[in-house]
Amino acid sequence: MDVTIRKPTERECEECGRREVWNDTTGTWRVAVGDDRRVGEVYCIHEWDINGTFVPVESDGDGVDA
Ligand SMILES: [Zn+2]
Repeated sequence: MDVTIRKPTERECEECGRREVWNDTTGTWRVAVGDDRRVGEVYCIHEWDINGTFVPVESDGDGVDA
């Protein structure tokens, strides 16, 4: 059974449109740079589009070894 650990590498605020990308080196989220740069609202509480729906472990098997 193959198990793939997935990590989000980018996220976007559904409220203000802020875009951030994951920096593996520092282990922190950074505001996207370049053409995608969108800082968003400073006072926004940020509703990230990955919240609640992101599944970190994906399995292509139809059963779980117990
Ligand atoms: Zn926001």
